[in-house]
Amino acid sequence: MRYTLLLLTFSTLVSCSGLEKSEEKKVRSQNFMIAPIQRQSDEILFNYPPISLKKRAPYPWEAKHIGKQLRITKEFFRCRGSILSPPIQIHRQKDFIYHQDCGGTELHSLPLKNGEEYIYPILIKLLNFVQEKLDRRVIITCGHRCPIHNLYADPSKKGQTSKHLIGAEVDFYVEGFEQNPQAVLDTLFSYYEEPLLRTLTLTDASTPSWYNKEVAITLFHPTEGRDFDNDHSYPYLSIQVRYDRNTKEAVQYNWHRAHNGYIKR
Ligand SMILES: [Zn+2]
Repeated sequence: MRYTLLLLTFSTLVSCSGLEKSEEKKVRSQNFMIAPIQRQSDEILFNYPPISLKKRAPYPWEAKHIGKQLRITKEFFRCRGSILSPPIQIHRQKDFIYHQDCGGTELHSLPLKNGEEYIYPILIKLLNFVQEKLDRRVIITCGHRCPIHNLYADPSKKGQTSKHLIGAEVDFYVEGFEQNPQAVLDTLFSYYEEPLLRTLTLTDASTPSWYNKEVAITLFHPTEGRDFDNDHSYPYLSIQVRYDRNTKEAVQYNWHRAHNGYIKR
């Protein structure tokens, strides 16, 4: 008896809601009409006060320009290797072998530090300082070089321990100052309070390098230091990092970091 009552109540409820729905549908279709919206273009329904957003000042790392120049970031240091470069012949162990250039930035990253792509910050700071002071564009001809491109660009034995491999060296010139590297050198020197020292021992350039604890700067004349990346007719400057102010350690070429310290895709 109890089950019969329950069933009856349930079926009544179902039939009621079905009836309601069909009735609602009917009313809707009767009231349905299409008409254009009549509204003036300057009509305001609710007169809210206008919203004024306060523009916050950009953080230093957000400023994309320094004067008229694009701010240099680690992106500017990416390997210049290209799959389109023709293979070269290099001399290895009494034999000549063919060596193909690397696939470039599509196929590998910058050097890594703590899991992130890394270029020694002092290089970025110095180049942006030059851009700011001279208000001209710095052209980086060689930033990071992966081992494959490094061998391609400069197969010399000495070149194989270059700090370009670990993101601690950069070659560049400045637009408008192509024939006046001294002005660029003077600007770099003005970054430091103490005058830089001179040494002959760092490179095979005819001009002694300038150095302090943190960096070494070398001037290459138009016939010196030429390689695949620096194949232009201007004098150029090279900056090597010698000391990391953050870790308080000397910066030296390291085979493991050079060959394994980046992601190969
Ligand atoms: Zn490369």
